[in-house]
Amino acid sequence: MKERLQELQTEALNKVNEAEEIQDLKDVRVKYLGKKGPITEVLRGMGKLSKEERPVIGQLANDVREEIAQAIEEKQSRLEEAALEKQLEAESVDVTLPGRPVEVGGPHLLTSIVEEIEDLFIGMGFEIKEGPEVETDYYNFEALNLPKGHPARDMQDSFYITEELLLRTHTSPVQARTMGVKNGSEPVKMICPGKVYRRDTDDATHSHQFTQIEGLLVDKHVRMSDLKGVLNTFAKQMFGAEREIRLRPSFFPFTEPSVEMDISCKMCGGAGCSVCKGTGWIEILGAGMVHPNVLEMAGYDPTEYSGFAFGMGPERIAMLKYGVDDIRNFYINDQRFLKQYHKA
Ligand SMILES: [Zn+2]
Repeated sequence: MKERLQELQTEALNKVNEAEEIQDLKDVRVKYLGKKGPITEVLRGMGKLSKEERPVIGQLANDVREEIAQAIEEKQSRLEEAALEKQLEAESVDVTLPGRPVEVGGPHLLTSIVEEIEDLFIGMGFEIKEGPEVETDYYNFEALNLPKGHPARDMQDSFYITEELLLRTHTSPVQARTMGVKNGSEPVKMICPGKVYRRDTDDATHSHQFTQIEGLLVDKHVRMSDLKGVLNTFAKQMFGAEREIRLRPSFFPFTEPSVEMDISCKMCGGAGCSVCKGTGWIEILGAGMVHPNVLEMAGYDPTEYSGFAFGMGPERIAMLKYGVDDIRNFYINDQRFLKQYHKA
């Protein structure tokens, strides 16, 4: 029995030595150390041994098992090491390969448009002004010739925080605030870009939150022709030198007279097409001469001072300039849409 065990040990250790794959070792383990293996079988025959022999053989069997298990273990770690080395060699990094491109972000289309418009007006000598988005009823409406109960307030239903506090419905309060600190004696030449809010149902052309840029010029001897000159310069720089503008009479409570400005349709050059609904013109913004009441409320003497104001939606400008057909594209942060407008 002793010889048999030693024989099995030698046999198993040889097989471990010869093993080239991890699977070979697994086979050795199952074959020699498994429940149906030859060592177990030898142990089963121990009943035939004398009392004195039994512990000796038992001890030997255990030693043999241990030795085989240890040999398998050692060989396995050597094989694993070799396999890893081989893999590393095969996967060596080629440092001369070009790197993966790093994704670079860019400003949102609306931000770009607002900045483009700002640059354009800064070039004409206008200042950029900002104001609070939570506004008082006074600055949002009353100071702009929209007293409580004025029917034109219905066009600008807002989100109220209290009776007197609301989310501003336009950037005009920034004009009122700017005029208010000039003591009625200094000229004003400013534009105010910013977010505004209205209680509108969102659809392809409406959003409860959108962007506005308004402009205001107050000085002595400001005439309607000055307004037309500034707007004409804006339209040509923004949409192309070949664009024509036209002013149509309109109504705003804070300007008198008030106008809507159209630009000639780029698609048809003014002949009429589906984009301009057959008119040859596309509406861009509203404007007018500052109402004497507004000047007076801001402390200016309307017999001495005059001014013009205009307001536009950067979303609408961007939609026309880049052919965007749904205003919601600006707000849902779909990278596929936004990436198209990232400048390299
Ligand atoms: Zn057209």
